[in-house]
Amino acid sequence: MNVLLVYAHPASTSLNGALKTFTVDRLQRAGHTVQVSDLYAMQWKSQVDADDHVGRDPALPFHASLDSRQAFASGRQSADIAAEQDKLRWADAVILQFPLWWFSMPAILKGWVDRVYAYGFAYGVGEHSDSHWGDRYGEGAMSGKRAMLVVTAGGWASHYGPRGINGPIDDVLFPIQHGILFYPGFDVLPAHVIYRSSRVDAASYPHELEKLGARLDGLASDPVIAYRRQNGGDYQIPELSLRDDLAAGQAGLAVHIAT
Ligand code: FAD
Repeated sequence: MNVLLVYAHPASTSLNGALKTFTVDRLQRAGHTVQVSDLYAMQWKSQVDADDHVGRDPALPFHASLDSRQAFASGRQSADIAAEQDKLRWADAVILQFPLWWFSMPAILKGWVDRVYAYGFAYGVGEHSDSHWGDRYGEGAMSGKRAMLVVTAGGWASHYGPRGINGPIDDVLFPIQHGILFYPGFDVLPAHVIYRSSRVDAASYPHELEKLGARLDGLASDPVIAYRRQNGGDYQIPELSLRDDLAAGQAGLAVHIAT
């Protein structure tokens, strides 16, 4: 497979840096071709602004989504955005690797999503009407591709357990896994999370590599999260609310996973 690793950590000497090196080596040894977008090393520009639309009319007010749509459609996106989109087209699988910062991804990675996920590329795809809200949540440009998060977290696993104070990890990561990955069509593998990351040391590190290695070995074949597809019949149209007879009496994020 072609694997794109989008990596967000400022220090190559960090735990994340070591895991990134291990990941590339493990995937290559398994016969995969790997590209890495090392966002800090690339000095990735994270903020969306008018410079993303090359040659735009400066007399017009900048509009984040409309400028994105025009730039994408006319081939006038800034070169860094277009290059990352090409990597996504090339990839069969995408890994986002990052330390959990304030229960989300580092700003530089969020800025990669904001800019690379252009209107017409990752959203605004397909028919948009009262009966069809676009090709998304299981359909879209990333259909047929797999994606997985590799995350380090300072908190304990129990802090992210079903009754943990931080909220269940699947809920914490839902905006990324469902909102950023499933939305444009990726099949999403369960995240690989390394908890209590500040306690990793020479003694525990080999075990962490063993567990991560097993997940990387399963990248092409492990079961994906059974998120419900927007256009698969599970949602009422046009409300896009889950049908009353599915997960009856339940609410919350878990209802969007088919059982
Ligand atoms: P490092 O600090 O580089 O290393 C962690 C440990 O691994 C160290 O003990 C180091 O010695 C060891 N190590 C590194 N490399 C190796 C190696 N090759 N072999 C053996 N041992 C090694 N946590 C949460 O749970 N939730 C949050 O919301 C959250 N928010 C945060 C917000 C910010 C701004 C910051 C800075 C931290 C936050 N944290 C949070 C904690 C954060 O998730 C951890 O600091 C991060 O996961 C650690 O990853 P790292 O790569 O920076 O580890």
